[in-house]
Amino acid sequence: MFNQIDYRGKIIKVIHKAEEIQKRSEQIRCQGKSIVLVPTMGFFHEGHLSLMRKGRELGDDLVISIFVNPAQFGPHEDFESYPRDLERDLQLAREIGVDAVFTPDNMELYPEGFQTYIELEKLPNHLCGLSRPVFFKGIATVVAKLFNIVKPHVAIFGEKDYQQLTVIRRMVQDLNFNINIIGGPTVREPDGLAMSSRNNYLTLKQRPTALTLYKALVKAKDLLKNGVKDAGEIIQVATKLITAHPETGIDYISICDPECLDTIKTIDKPALMALAVNVGKTRLIDNMILYP
Ligand code: AMP
Repeated sequence: MFNQIDYRGKIIKVIHKAEEIQKRSEQIRCQGKSIVLVPTMGFFHEGHLSLMRKGRELGDDLVISIFVNPAQFGPHEDFESYPRDLERDLQLAREIGVDAVFTPDNMELYPEGFQTYIELEKLPNHLCGLSRPVFFKGIATVVAKLFNIVKPHVAIFGEKDYQQLTVIRRMVQDLNFNINIIGGPTVREPDGLAMSSRNNYLTLKQRPTALTLYKALVKAKDLLKNGVKDAGEIIQVATKLITAHPETGIDYISICDPECLDTIKTIDKPALMALAVNVGKTRLIDNMILYP
């Protein structure tokens, strides 16, 4: 396995053991340097890389984690088939100037006897949490573990996974993690499709259908600009737009409060519009803030 890789004079350390990176982080902290963490599940695209570039600017030592977290996948979800390409990921990370990659195996993070999980009471009862019951429990738990292992001063997450970012901000506040959580804007393909490792599953035929998530969000913005403030009406238009395409199954289209995620009926303050749609077997999500 990789350990230390040199690329054009840049050295990237690849670490598999929690104890090893914990010790490394302690030493870096003792030197008075700041650590930035970008947690990922790998199979990098420009969205991931944008967070790493931001991280490069925000601290002295940039650590990324690559771990497809089994605890956040339900029994019939795509844990096994989730795309993975560690070698390519390491090359991309090196080019950005990442200092260390933490890539543990499942037993390293969830050894036999593991039984301590973190659950939030309210935020998961919305949006993705409704159809993915273990998702946020898995995310909160693995992120808390990564925070204790990597000991970052700053951690960066994408706004593409808006509910995840909200859950992590809440957990950090509730559990007094001394970590600054930074959000990075959603990076899109030139036509508007939000970048996602799962876009890799889409067939050429499904690609235009996948774009309807973005189109529905843009349509919602237009409607609001033209004075339509009724959330129900906007959701209805978005639903029609999406279901006009083949192979779509809407999980949810929601207009809600950007902090507590409670549903909003009339948009008279900034609101989050978030949606999850199955295109064939691929589950895609996207969101935008709507400003009245
Ligand atoms: P993942 O590997 O899918 O768990 O994503 C790792 C991090 O990258 C998470 O914080 C995501 O929110 C973020 N991310 C994923 N897709 C995008 C995107 N298109 N733009 C910005 N950030 C993203």
